[in-house]
Amino acid sequence: PGVAPVPGKSTVTATVLWGANNIYSLRADDGRVFEHVRLKGKTLPGTEEEHNPLAPGDVVELDETGGTARILRRVERRNTVLRWNRTRHRMQAIAANADRLCIVASAGTPVYRAAFVDRVLVMAELEEIPAMIVVNKSDLPLSDDATEHLEVLQSVGYAVVATAATVDDDTGVATLTRMLSGQVSVFFGQSGVGKSSLINALVPGLDLATGDVSRRYRRGRHTTTLARQVLVHGERGDTVYIDTPGVREYDLFGYGVTEVAAGFREFRAELSDCAMPGCTHVHEPRCAVRAAVAAGRIHQRRYEAYCRVAQTLQGAGS
Ligand code: GDP
Ligand code: ZN
Repeated sequence: PGVAPVPGKSTVTATVLWGANNIYSLRADDGRVFEHVRLKGKTLPGTEEEHNPLAPGDVVELDETGGTARILRRVERRNTVLRWNRTRHRMQAIAANADRLCIVASAGTPVYRAAFVDRVLVMAELEEIPAMIVVNKSDLPLSDDATEHLEVLQSVGYAVVATAATVDDDTGVATLTRMLSGQVSVFFGQSGVGKSSLINALVPGLDLATGDVSRRYRRGRHTTTLARQVLVHGERGDTVYIDTPGVREYDLFGYGVTEVAAGFREFRAELSDCAMPGCTHVHEPRCAVRAAVAAGRIHQRRYEAYCRVAQTLQGAGS
């Protein structure tokens, strides 16, 4: 009030920190943080079909004309971390523009779930996001089954790092710090695996609340895009950690069966050799994927994981 609006447009580029209910917190490129920012208009151009137009990590153009910042448009994404929203029956963006997806699992509780990790890896492959696995709570014993699964994942090229976030001077945390330096990393996993504890360990001096998830993220429609994001300035550029709300299940209903097969990265080299067009690699004759399983090039566990997903998708009519 009292200040005449600057004639013409005044736009600035900003990154979405988090948002709920179409109201966002953003960090502008010049370092300023904007809270409670709304869209200019009802929708953003080109995002009308999407469940949530913006996710943490999205880059947007802000209009500051008249002193109130409004989001004008979303800059094209490099990639999107997706999950299937069971209630809305559609894909939902949980983060955008990630350099790396850290799938966080744990020894102890919650118990390691191979199927969960395999499915998130499929999404990461299909969305072209480099993924790794962080096994937290490594101060506790890890089951033989989990150990075997992680060895299989390493054999197909995924990095696996064991951490103990709540243990002082943990070498795993130090390793992870080096690996993620200068990148934008998204932490994704079941509730209680220690994502917040990990980010606290990675960023000394930070004090994110940890513990009971229901205390931190109140349930309901306001939680859908909520995530926390920490930026650390370093000599070799900024490091960003994006924490996402924990999920219980991970479904792949947003993809078709043939897409999912390509999401198992070690299947890719075989896919073009299947005899039947549109082979689902379950029952077709002269299937190259099944031949690779028999020859030991594809691990039986990964193939079984694929078959369970394929069955679920076919049951859903995909
Ligand atoms: P989030 O839901 O994934 O963010 O998990 P939290 O960071 O809130 O951690 C859940 C619980 O696990 C808390 O009680 C933490 O103290 C505990 N926790 C986290 N990291 C470790 C760890 O490395 N070892 C052990 N033993 N407990 C941990
Ligand atoms: Zn096949």
